[in-house]
Amino acid sequence: MQRLKKRSWAEPFKIKVVEPLKMTSREERERALKEAGYNTFLLRSEDVYIDLLTDSGTNAMSDYQWAGMMLGDEAYAGSRNFYRLEDAVKRYYGYAHLVPTHQGRGAEHLISRILIKPGDFVPGNMYFTTTRLHQELAGGTFVDVIIDEAHDPASLHPFKGNVDLGKLEALVKKVGADKIPYISVAATVNMAGGQPISMANLKELHAFCSRQGIRIILDATRAVENAWFIKIREKGYESRSIAEILKEMCSYSDGCTMSGKKDLLVNIGGFLAINDAEIFEEARNLVVVYEGLHTYGGLAGRDMEAMARGIEEAVQEDHIRARIGQVEYVGEKLKAIGIPIVQPVGGHAIFLDAKNFLPKIPQVEFPAQTLAAELYLESGIRSMERGIVSAGRNKETGDHYYPKLELVRLTFPRRVYTQAHCDVTAEAVEAVYERRDTIRGLRMVYEPKYLRFFQARFERL
Ligand SMILES: *Cc1c(COP(=O)(O)O)cnc(C)c1O
Repeated sequence: MQRLKKRSWAEPFKIKVVEPLKMTSREERERALKEAGYNTFLLRSEDVYIDLLTDSGTNAMSDYQWAGMMLGDEAYAGSRNFYRLEDAVKRYYGYAHLVPTHQGRGAEHLISRILIKPGDFVPGNMYFTTTRLHQELAGGTFVDVIIDEAHDPASLHPFKGNVDLGKLEALVKKVGADKIPYISVAATVNMAGGQPISMANLKELHAFCSRQGIRIILDATRAVENAWFIKIREKGYESRSIAEILKEMCSYSDGCTMSGKKDLLVNIGGFLAINDAEIFEEARNLVVVYEGLHTYGGLAGRDMEAMARGIEEAVQEDHIRARIGQVEYVGEKLKAIGIPIVQPVGGHAIFLDAKNFLPKIPQVEFPAQTLAAELYLESGIRSMERGIVSAGRNKETGDHYYPKLELVRLTFPRRVYTQAHCDVTAEAVEAVYERRDTIRGLRMVYEPKYLRFFQARFERL
């Protein structure tokens, strides 16, 4: 008998509550897809078998978090859960001040409004949809300063989320540092495929920005996942704990926006954390207008408690190893059967390279949107377009942005699906790949003004 040499990781939890899944027939899915205008965002969750639309707020909470929900202090002001959350953010992220918000975009709204003046420029290591929109609504112009490798789905660079300091310096020379209120640094970079930024790059960026007087606002939504990649890929961090790495990352920034719906293992919640006392004062003032009083920011006390507990669980090494290990498992399977995917596989998702998957469909016919629709039709698996539809239009010219990356994202909620679900997913992608030559593109028949990918409708060509 052959011995199995490799020691596999396995989920560091057992299942206590289950939620049955509904299986659908191909005819039912055909009907559901048509009704949804070939947009997976418009499908009813009931008609979905394995839901890989997003890992946002779709996490399974632990018994420890659920127990915390019962300890919600629902006082309007000064809830004890706020203080628990404040302590956890200080302890694990290291920032001085906390303003809770209903989710990440609430924090993005506050910081954009406070720091950006019309005519300003906000560089970032690639854009994120809501982040960029809030910067634009505040009168700023987003400028991409990520390294070129991030736009190349085949590049094996270990830190494709890195900032290109040359690009940043060129921007400073062109517009002047006083027109750059801050750089928005995402860790990991969702839109590049969940790609991490290195500690060395963060350190260098921090030195550069300190000299120029430019603040660094971290999008810390997926910073724990980033910390894991630093641990396994960056020299000198092998034996450091995830918590230590996370805190060091944050120490190179002035504050962060956070969507707790990702790393922090909750279904709703977010925050703005900041070191500067004046910015904090203003954020604390504005949050009352847009979210709720500064000790709840649109959240119930129980939600803040669950998030505080999620912060503790997120940095546990067994958890994060299994979380990213599951995504890698699917990535390895797809690579083995020759499916074009973004490499290296990122922290939260597999990104199918739709341009190479469906090379006959031109970008104006929405290859990634088409592929997401076909995958649903094949198997009931729901994924998401991250390509030309998500990129939106240039507000001056009215043209589509044509992003280099035309991707379909298979996003894994934390602690939700099993390895068998992963196998079924890989098999479904393979089945669509086998009939790729017969697939036709789409035409957009309804386009909303903002963040069109959420509600746009399509028809088959
Ligand atoms: C989800 C996400 C956001 C926005 O957070 P919401 O909670 O959805 O408002 C911002 N940045 C990144 C990197 C995200 O993944």
